[in-house]
Amino acid sequence: MSAGARPVKAFRGTELHTLGWQQEAVLRMLQNNLDPEVAEHPDALVVYGGTGKAVRDWDSFDAIVRTLTTLKDDETMLVQSGKPVGVLRTNEWAPRVLIANSNLVGDWANWDEFRRLEQLGLTMYGQMTAGSWIYIGTQGILQGTYETFAAVAAKSFGGSLQGTVTLTGGLGGMGGAQPLAVTMNDGVAICVDVDPSRISRRLEHRYLDVEAQSLEHALKLAYEARDAKKPLSIGLLGNAADVFPRLLEMGAEIDIVTDQTSAHDPLAYLPLEFSFEEWADARTADPHGFADAARRSMRRQVEAMVGFQSAGAEVFDYGNNIRTEAKTAGFADAFAFPGFVPAYIRPLFEQGKGPFRWAALSGDPADIVATDRAILELFPENESLAKWIRMAGERVQFQGLPARICWLGYGERDRAGLRFNEMVASGELSAPVVIGRDHLDSGSVASPYRETEAMKDGSDAIADWPLLNALVTTSSGATWVSIHHGGGVGIGRSIHAGQVIVADGTELAARKIARVLSNDPAMGVLRHADAGYDDAIDTAERLGVRIPMRES
Ligand code: NAD
Repeated sequence: MSAGARPVKAFRGTELHTLGWQQEAVLRMLQNNLDPEVAEHPDALVVYGGTGKAVRDWDSFDAIVRTLTTLKDDETMLVQSGKPVGVLRTNEWAPRVLIANSNLVGDWANWDEFRRLEQLGLTMYGQMTAGSWIYIGTQGILQGTYETFAAVAAKSFGGSLQGTVTLTGGLGGMGGAQPLAVTMNDGVAICVDVDPSRISRRLEHRYLDVEAQSLEHALKLAYEARDAKKPLSIGLLGNAADVFPRLLEMGAEIDIVTDQTSAHDPLAYLPLEFSFEEWADARTADPHGFADAARRSMRRQVEAMVGFQSAGAEVFDYGNNIRTEAKTAGFADAFAFPGFVPAYIRPLFEQGKGPFRWAALSGDPADIVATDRAILELFPENESLAKWIRMAGERVQFQGLPARICWLGYGERDRAGLRFNEMVASGELSAPVVIGRDHLDSGSVASPYRETEAMKDGSDAIADWPLLNALVTTSSGATWVSIHHGGGVGIGRSIHAGQVIVADGTELAARKIARVLSNDPAMGVLRHADAGYDDAIDTAERLGVRIPMRES
C-alpha cells in the first residue's frame, strides 16, 4: 500500500456525517468508488479503465472528506483533477461540487504532456465515472454491453446469440461485463485476459462461468456449449495479441469479435514482448519504448480482427480506441470494422436514451428491489427493459452500495427520478438515492472514435455539446457536475460531462429532478436533431423539445 492508502467503505444507514443529504451523497459515492469491492486497484486510487482515478492522492481524499463534512447547503466545492481547490458561496440550487478532470488546452492535449503534468502532481486521469464519483462496479456497463450484444443479435443472428461464439479481450472493470452480457443473450463467449486476478474476480462475481486451461480447451468448451445451444462464458489466460492471431490461423469458428483491453492507454495494454510480471517495471522504466511495443502488439490483434471480419465474422471496436493505435503502428486497414456506437447504439442516442443509474445510500438491497418494482410499474410497455430488470435482479451481484442501471430516454428519466423521490418521502425507501449516469451518453460527449463517430453531418469533433450539457445540468439543479477530457478513448480524443442528483424526498429535490432529468437527456435529442437524425427530430417534435432553428 502507498502512504495514506487504506480500505475505504461508504457509510450506510440514515445517520448523517455531513450537514445534509446532498453533501452526504457526494461523500458516500466518493467512498463507494474506492471500496475494494468496487474499485479495480483501490490502493492506487484507481477505480477502473486503466488508470482512471477517483482523486489525485490520499491527501486530496482526506481534504475532500474533511471539506464535505462542513460544506453548507449554499456552498460549492471545486475539484481540479482530483484535488479540492476551493469552496465558494453559491446558492441552494447550485451543485455542491463542481469537478473538472484531465482537461488540457488543444495543442497540449497528448499523452506525453499529460503524463509530464501528472508526474509533477498537477493532474490525474479521471476516466468517466471514476473521477466523477458515480462508478457502480461492473454492473454499470453491464446493461449497455447487454444492449449492444442484443443489437448484434438483432442485426445479424435472428435476434439471439444462441449457437454463436464471441471472442473478446479484457476482463477488467468494464470488459468484465462482456461474458455475462453474452450469456444473457444466450451466446458463448471466449474472453482473453493477461491478468489471472481479473479472471478469478469475474468468476467470483459470477460474471464469468468457467476458466479454460488452454486455448484448445477453450475452443472445445465453446463448441460443445454452442452445439448444445447453451450459454457459456469461458475465461482464457493469455495475451490477446497472441491468442487472436492463433485462433484465426487455426480457422476457429468465431461468429463475433471485439475487444475491451485498455487499449486507449498504451501503458495499460501488455505488449507481447513482456510477461505479466514484467509489466509494471517495464512501463515505468521506458514509457516510450513500452508504448511503441504495445502499439505493435495492438496492430497484430487488430490485423487478426480484420482477418476474422474477412472470414465473415461480425467485428466491432468496443470503445477502447484500439483501431487508432493499430493505425499509428502502421496498419492502414485498421478502420475496416466500425465502432459500436454507429453500428448499434446511435438509434438509442437519437431518442436521448442512455445509461441511467441510481444507488441506494442506505446500503440496503431492499431499496433497489423496491426501485426495480417501481421501474416495472412505470414502463409496463417496455418489454426489453422489463427483461433486463428481472435478469439484473436475479443475476447481478451488487458491488459496494446497492445500485441499478437501465437505459431510459427523454421523458422517462424524470418520471423515474420523481417516483424515487416520492418513495423516499413516503418511507418506501429507507434513505435517499442518488441518480446519475455514465458519460457514455447521447448528449454529453464529444468523442470521434466512439460516441460521436461518423455523425451524419460530420460534426464528430465538435466539443461544444458536452460543455453546454454541463452548463445546463449545473443551471438545472444537479448535485454534482463534472467535465472530463480523455475518458475511455484517451487524451486528446474526447470531452465529456457528467451529472448526479440526489433524491432526498424533499419538494426542492423534486423541482430539481424534474429539470435535471429532462434537460440532461434533452441535450441528446438536441445534439442528434442538430446533426440531422430523423428520429431525434421526431422525438423533439413529439415531446415538445424546442429547437429555435425549427421554429418560425
Ligand atoms: P481495465 O483496465 O479495468 O481492464 C483492462 C483489462 O485488459 C485488464 O484486465 C488487463 O489485464 C487486460 N489486458 C491488457 N492488455 C492485455 C492484452 N494484451 N491481452 C489481454 N488482456 C490485456 O479497463 P476497463 O475498465 O475494463 O476498460 C477496458 C477498455 O474499454 C478501456 O479502454 C476503456 O476505456 C474502454 N471502455 C469501453 C466502454 C464501452 O462502453 N465500450 C466503456 C468504458 C470503457
